[in-house]
Amino acid sequence: MNQLTNYHSHSQFCDGHAPMEEFVKEAVAEGFVAYGISSHAPFPVPNQCNMLRERLPEYLAEFHRIKELYGSAIELYVGLEIDFLDDSFNPSIPYFKELPLDYRIGSVHYIVTPDGTPIDTDGSPDRFRGYVDTYFGGDVDEAVRRFYRSSFRLVELGGFDFLGHLDKIGLNASLYRPGLDREAWYRRLVADYLEAIASQHLLVEVNTKAFATRGRFFPGEDYFEQMHRLGIGVVVNSDAHYPAKINAGRPEALKALARAGYTTVWQFHRNEWIETPLEL
Ligand SMILES: [Zn+2]
Ligand SMILES: [Zn+2]
Repeated sequence: MNQLTNYHSHSQFCDGHAPMEEFVKEAVAEGFVAYGISSHAPFPVPNQCNMLRERLPEYLAEFHRIKELYGSAIELYVGLEIDFLDDSFNPSIPYFKELPLDYRIGSVHYIVTPDGTPIDTDGSPDRFRGYVDTYFGGDVDEAVRRFYRSSFRLVELGGFDFLGHLDKIGLNASLYRPGLDREAWYRRLVADYLEAIASQHLLVEVNTKAFATRGRFFPGEDYFEQMHRLGIGVVVNSDAHYPAKINAGRPEALKALARAGYTTVWQFHRNEWIETPLEL
């Protein structure tokens, strides 16, 4: 039995649907060995998902209260899922580097449109469709290219421990135009991105959040073999917004990784990333 871990989860400090403590209680009940809390970091554009900057001290204090209570039963860590917006706001800026966190996730949710408006790319498919029509005149390919331009820059600038849900825009983009994520240009873009990631020796998350509902991981299983060939280490996370989903999709992801040749996954233990044997 592979050790149960998850380092990507949201609570009521951002867009999660339960208090932080409920996720930790569930992790203890399910026999997790390590658990990480990673709210959406404060963001310069007001929205419903990101934590407000003024709540960060309370976020950290609540984590430490919970760690006192449960820390003998489970390894607990506090991080943030930090957005890339542009060169002035991303995980590499001093504000994030100076926060007392155990780890950081680097993710792209927002892209900047030609008129300078930041729009989120992984909300509901209908909202994404509306954005593409309004800001890109229906040119979904351009929205996707901007997503990857930001992604490449995120990787260049660094400032995080692992990359969150790469290839996520493939879901909404392929709901906009069915099959888009299987088109050669899209696959080339992801393949090039994986090469950039490998050259920086970065860890990549295999995000299992949508596996039950959409039957796909982020990145998609089709890319696992290339990732393995490139020597990219993976962290399997559920990106849980509900306590009941902290382990959702993990067994399936581990099987898919094993099929692609992976024999190890990366886990955070005693404040270090450790390459751990993948056992099904
Ligand atoms: Zn995310
Ligand atoms: Zn997340």
